[in-house]
Amino acid sequence: MTEYQAVIGLEVHVQLKTNTKIFCGCSTTFGAEPNSQTCPVCLGLPGALPVLNKKVVEYAIRAGLATNHSIAPRSVFARKNYFYPDLPKGYQISQYELPICLNGHLDIEGEWGTKRIGITRIHMEEDAGKLVHGDVPGLSDGSGVDLNRACTPLLEIVSEPDIRSADEAVAYLKKLHQIVVYLGICDGNMEEGSFRCDANVSVMPVGSDTFGTRTETKNVNSFRFVKQAIEHEIERQIDLIEEGGKVVQETRLFDPASGTTRSMRGKEDAHDYRYFPDPDLVPLVISDDWVEDVRLSLPELPDAKRQRYVQELGLSAADAELLTAARELAEYYEAVLAAGAPAKPAANWVMGEVSRGLNDAGIAIDACPVAPALLAELLGLIDKGTISGKIAKTVFDEMWQSGKNPAAIVEEKGLVQVSDTGEIEKIIDGIIAANLGQVEEYRGGKEKVLGFFVGQVMKASRGKANPAVVNELLLKKLKG
Ligand code: ADP
Ligand code: MG
Ligand code: ZN
Repeated sequence: MTEYQAVIGLEVHVQLKTNTKIFCGCSTTFGAEPNSQTCPVCLGLPGALPVLNKKVVEYAIRAGLATNHSIAPRSVFARKNYFYPDLPKGYQISQYELPICLNGHLDIEGEWGTKRIGITRIHMEEDAGKLVHGDVPGLSDGSGVDLNRACTPLLEIVSEPDIRSADEAVAYLKKLHQIVVYLGICDGNMEEGSFRCDANVSVMPVGSDTFGTRTETKNVNSFRFVKQAIEHEIERQIDLIEEGGKVVQETRLFDPASGTTRSMRGKEDAHDYRYFPDPDLVPLVISDDWVEDVRLSLPELPDAKRQRYVQELGLSAADAELLTAARELAEYYEAVLAAGAPAKPAANWVMGEVSRGLNDAGIAIDACPVAPALLAELLGLIDKGTISGKIAKTVFDEMWQSGKNPAAIVEEKGLVQVSDTGEIEKIIDGIIAANLGQVEEYRGGKEKVLGFFVGQVMKASRGKANPAVVNELLLKKLKG
């Protein structure tokens, strides 16, 4: 039996988070009344002229630099001709021969180690509108066209056919997703289609250097679906070839309900689109200065951040991964450090109490009621021995509720930790006198009883006794 190797290349569409569309001033807000965000340009009325949105170009440069591309000093918009009812002009403005970003790459980590996936290009283009079927407002039944989305800005990011498995594909997509969200150029919302993927898949016998015929599965909009779609497609193609059939180049659709793909249409070749430079838009010239300005404005990217957390802050790889997963969480953590908190305790609190609180309340980190500086103050109180770690959790809950500063809460509620040996000794003597039986047990070799005494002393001090001091004194006294 022949063994097969899958070959995968991904085209990712990233919807850019600009306020206005790519070639007109209409709003890009999601979910508005159908056709309320349109004008002669995005309606495709004859004679209306497109004007390029500078922000879109800046975002494309950001994406290109963050994924190791060279930025073309001169790029050209082209018309891609095809008919679709939600594409009123009869063509889509895109880039073809001269895209804005070329020759990038991303490194993905996994069971395969670290692997470099080439990125052929990134180009800018406009999105089409949307067809709405069935329950269309104003129509009892039928189909309507909503052009609010027409002309919203997209980046298309095209990978080299370097990916060899569904897991590699998902790792690549997750990394790309994290980067565009970190860059602040995309909201990353996959259900709303802000980040969607076309998966090109082919198979060939292991060891062959000629790729098989590929199929393209369109608009898969979750990581799980991408994995399913690719795995299903690999299996389908292998079965087909084993049965003596041939894979045809075609566009397929993924059906989440069955986890399978089905044929949608024969795949066009580039020449079918009759691409030509759009005469309404002059070539886009980008100066080196602009590129350098954008480079300087880039945030620290997830890979670099993760590495720094491990190497400079001494965090574990797993903690660094967790804290950098979302840029906002990493920024919160860094604000706690900037306010003077030590790295490891701060990491534990952010991943622990803070994350738990956010989870329970169902809110995002930017709505966290405990300001980073106040969390740092709380950690300072623990560090100085003013309160114990246990009491700190009570104080934290109070901070979460009231937003008050920790010192005020400690003062108000009389939570200051007792480290004074005289005071603690007094409590210990009382407890020992009242539990002579247990003292005998301890002295008879039952060391577990120490826990009982610690518990009693902590209880008697209402949690305020310094646990280290309690332990030390108890041991001394119990041993006699
Ligand atoms: P199109 O717009 O026709 O889909 P693109 O060049 O934009 O063409 O994208 C082609 C995608 O298909 C790229 O991601 C590329 O890596 C991938 N690809 C090309 N050939 C193969 C193949 N034989 N098997 C799998 N993927 C392929
Ligand atoms: Mg394609
Ligand atoms: Zn418009």
